[in-house]
This record gives sequence, C-alpha cells and structure tokens, in this order.
Amino acid sequence: MSLRPIMLTRPPVEIMLDDGFWDELIEGGFRDVCVSWMAFLKEVEHGESLPTREEARPRVLSFFMDKGDQFEYVPIIKPDTSLYDGMTLYPPSRSDEFDSIFRELRDAFQRAKKKGINLYLFDDKSYFEISGYPAGPEGTRGFSCWNDPQVAEYLVARTRDYVNQLPMFSGIVLDGPDYKWEIAPGERDDLFAERCFCDHCQNAARLMGLDLMKLVDTLAEFKLEMQQLTDEKVEGFLLSTRGFLGATDWWLSHPELLDLMRFRYAAIENHLIREYEGIKKHLPEFTVMVSSRTPSYSALTGHALQRRNAYSDYQLPKLYLWAGNQPGFRYTVNNYANTLSEWNPSLSRKNVVGLTERIFGIEFPADYPVEKFDDPAPLSFYEQIAGDEMKKMIHLIGDVDKLIPFIALEHFGGPQIQPREVRDLLLTLENSGINRYIFFHYGVITEDVWSVLTEFSK
Ligand SMILES: [Zn+2]
Repeated sequence: MSLRPIMLTRPPVEIMLDDGFWDELIEGGFRDVCVSWMAFLKEVEHGESLPTREEARPRVLSFFMDKGDQFEYVPIIKPDTSLYDGMTLYPPSRSDEFDSIFRELRDAFQRAKKKGINLYLFDDKSYFEISGYPAGPEGTRGFSCWNDPQVAEYLVARTRDYVNQLPMFSGIVLDGPDYKWEIAPGERDDLFAERCFCDHCQNAARLMGLDLMKLVDTLAEFKLEMQQLTDEKVEGFLLSTRGFLGATDWWLSHPELLDLMRFRYAAIENHLIREYEGIKKHLPEFTVMVSSRTPSYSALTGHALQRRNAYSDYQLPKLYLWAGNQPGFRYTVNNYANTLSEWNPSLSRKNVVGLTERIFGIEFPADYPVEKFDDPAPLSFYEQIAGDEMKKMIHLIGDVDKLIPFIALEHFGGPQIQPREVRDLLLTLENSGINRYIFFHYGVITEDVWSVLTEFSK
C-alpha cells in the first residue's frame, strides 16, 4: 500500500513550533504539508469560538487547554507593501508583538524542510478577515469578485510576499473559486442564488457578446422548468438522452443555458490563468495546484478539468463524499432527489431517482439507493460511485501523476464518514491507480482515522 498523502492543516500554527508535530507526520508517512490559514491565534473577548467541536487531534486540543475560548486570527507575515503598489486590495497588517513568534515559526518551517517535508501555501482568498480582502458591496460576492483581475494580481503579490519571507515553501494550493452547484433552496451553494452583478462580471460577459442580466434570467427560467416536471416529460427526457447524441437537442433548445455554462467556464479559466501565469512569471519553479469539485458536477462550477493542465501543475478535485452537510457529495445528490420531489409532488419516485442519476451521470448501487445516503456507505458506494468519479478524474486530467484528490471526513461539525469508510475510500483510490491525495484536515483526525491513513501511506 503506497499512497503519498499531503496533510492540510488549520490553525493553530503554533503547534508547528514543536518538532514533535513534524516527526509525528513523518512517522505517519506524510512528507507534504499544506499550511492553510497562515494565521496565529490571539485570545480576545469576542471572536471565533475555538476549538471547533470536530477538533480531535491531541496536539491541537492541548494547545487550547490553558486558554480562553474566543480567538481572532492574526496574519503570520507583516506585508511588504511595495509588492501591492497600485492595487486597491490591501494586505492585512500585523503588529510587532508577533515578530518573535514569527521568527520562531520560520525557524520551525526551516527545520521541517531539513527533515524532508515539502511545504505548501494555501490560497486563503475567501477568508478576507485574514488575508485582507474587503467585503463586496451589495449585489456582489462577499469578497472581491474573481472576475476582477485585481483579485488574481493580489493573490500573486501575496504569494510572492510569503515566499520572500518564507522561502522554504515550494508551492501553493489554489482553493476554487467555484460557481455554485447545489439545488436545495437556502443552501450555501444554491446555484439559483448565484448572482454577482458587479462591473467586472458584466464586462466579462460583454466581452463574450453576452448580457449578464439575461444569464441571470436564464437561471430563474431553468429553475421554473425544474419545478414543472411531469412523469411524461421526465420519461421522454430520460429516453431521448440515453444516447450521447440525444442531449444535443436538449442543449440546442436551451441556448441561453449553454451561454451561461460558457460564461462560467471562461470566467473561472481566465481567473486561474491570471493566477497561474502571474505566479510563474515571478516564481517559475513554484508548484501551483488547483482545486475543483468532483467531475459529476464540476461543469456547473465552471471548471473544465480537461483544459486545466495548461494552467496548473496538479489538479485537486474534491472527493468530498459525506452526507451530513455542505459540501458533501452524498448531501448534494440527496438534495437533488429531495428537491425535485418537493418541487414536483406528482412525479413518481422512479423518475425522481432516474433524473437524479442522469444529471450526475451516476448509478445508485442496489444495496445503497439514494434513500439510504444518510447511513454510512457500504463498500459498493466507494467502489461504484466514488470509483467512477476517480475514473472520470483520471480520464479528464489525462495524467494520473497530476491528480491529487482532496478527501475529508466532513465540514463544519456535521456527521463524519466512518474510519471503515475512509479505508474503503483509500482502497478504492489505490485500486483506481491514483497514487496521491490531500487530506483536509489534521485537526479532526481521531486515532482510528490516523491508523487508517497511516496504513496506506507506508
Ligand atoms: Zn462580479
């Protein structure tokens, strides 16, 4: 068994000052570490409650033991403002009181590097309270829009700033961005709630000969169409799109939806190209890794996996398979089935399930229909559904050595996938021919999960 994993960490970075942290990872077979959220923790009266309830790693829990429970994040580095000259996005400042712990951390990173650990940055762009992005005005995203070229320029400058001060880091993981893909109303990733009307988005659409407001209307019309399904319509759709060519008529009868997909692809691609080429211009040897969602819905999010080798060194699709909450695959698939049912109460269960399968290009195993998706998944789910996602990744990316899927137990404190399932997942990964993965994240690893991960990494 030999998977080469990357471990992604979350604060507290202070645990990294102790060499025991690096030795533990090396002992477990982890020689690649992605440090996510380059931030110290400062105790405050009103801040973020930490540790989160999913934190399980003894080293993390003992950090919090003798402290309060409210913290704020403090950027690790003091910015070199000359790198951001002419930008309207400013890096966050940091007070001198953290100078000495910064030097200690830098020395710890240096020692880790000497021990043979490869260190990677993580693109923290959506966490503007740490990285200094201003929140957007109403009608725009919560942070500056990715169609604003300055967002990519800022990321490039920020990466250079980190590397100048922490030269032992040899790469970065870019996290998203993703257009939304979820169907259930009110969800974080509700695709029908996706709307940024900022000048940059309007301009990006105009350059493609498209009208952004029309694209937004199209999404609303499509939602209405999904709410007016009948058994006759669905059966006809399933029958006529059974063949590869059958979908042509459907797409050609929805030209605006096709435009929306083209717009999403172009927006994400242009943003990633700006980031990739900007980093490579200054740091040609620096490794740039790019995330995405899983292939069965990556198109909705604007990522064309097949094209991304031209602007990434590694592709990191998220094989997030849990059921309890966003952004888990089973959660999303279940939401599609349930929402289609709620919107169309007269639709037969058979047609709801058939349509859900057709949308994602999946087939539910006989012993694990979508109705059971909240229960722990049997091996058949990992072998068939997850296994097919892996095969799609390999095919679309075309080079298994450029593929490092993200795996995680859950996000935000929901029900976790069980250690037995982690084993089934890693077994399927290995059988598929994939030889690497990135684990999100160190702090949540229980002893049982640690045993499974290390079993596969030695
Ligand atoms: Zn925008």
